[in-house]
Amino acid sequence: MALTQEQLSRITKELKRVYEGLLEDIRNEQDASGNTQIAELLGRVPADSGDISVADALVDLNVELIDRHVQGLRDVEAARQRLAEGNFGICADCETNIGFERMLAYPTARRCLPCQETREKMFAHKATPRL
Ligand SMILES: [Zn+2]
Repeated sequence: MALTQEQLSRITKELKRVYEGLLEDIRNEQDASGNTQIAELLGRVPADSGDISVADALVDLNVELIDRHVQGLRDVEAARQRLAEGNFGICADCETNIGFERMLAYPTARRCLPCQETREKMFAHKATPRL
């Protein structure tokens, strides 16, 4: 892996910040929608463990308002999984190292910039290209 421990630790912190921001957004949105079920669910689950089950439960609740945030949580979870497996920062398409600057800016990115651009051209009709 090309990233140093210090770089990985910065990215880990950034992932945590993104994740907590998403949780906060979900809490705010569910407050606005008056759905206490989600608040209870999030309130008793620690932010750093059981993350996948939280996302699954949220999807089960099928609250359209928070769907995009749940997708964001899943992206963070996938990035954490790659960190745990030691293949974080490696492009899913060409398997080169994505590079620290891009990973810090987009910690959930799965592809290097050239591959991402190629993909966005291929799927140009999609409104929101995935990182
Ligand atoms: Zn690539």
